[in-house]
Amino acid sequence: MSTLALDRLERAIEAVSAVPDPEIPVVSIADLGMVRAVRVAADGVVEVDLSPTYTGCPATRLIGEEVRAAIEAAGLGTPRIRFLTSPAWTTDWITPEGLAALERYGIAPPPRRADPDAPVACPRCGSTDTEEISRFGSTPCKALWRCRSCGEPFDRFKCL
Ligand SMILES: [Zn+2]
Repeated sequence: MSTLALDRLERAIEAVSAVPDPEIPVVSIADLGMVRAVRVAADGVVEVDLSPTYTGCPATRLIGEEVRAAIEAAGLGTPRIRFLTSPAWTTDWITPEGLAALERYGIAPPPRRADPDAPVACPRCGSTDTEEISRFGSTPCKALWRCRSCGEPFDRFKCL
């Protein structure tokens, strides 16, 4: 790869990594594990492969538009964006930084694929005495939970 292409790639990765999740702006799409690949194609066009967190999530199209805008703002032209549905996005791809940011924002991290039945800890007080009150939280991608210990409701990422 030429130095020029390498420079474009580094700038593209930087631009894509900084794109926040439209629903949870404290977390970047990179920290959510949605960015699968960033490439510079032979014709010089930046290519970005994204894994949508949830198929049919209304935020998915918005994420594509934000990635395109970020690449264009970095002076790298209009990218080709692909949404990969296989392998399906998994909560295991959320980085430790992403999990910590979710918790700080008051959103319980989603279940990990390795341990889907692990107790859900309240993001406010840490109690695991929690219950789901609705499959539908503040957005279609979240469920509404309540902590029996401190009484506070909170959002939790759904797992499909
Ligand atoms: Zn609590």
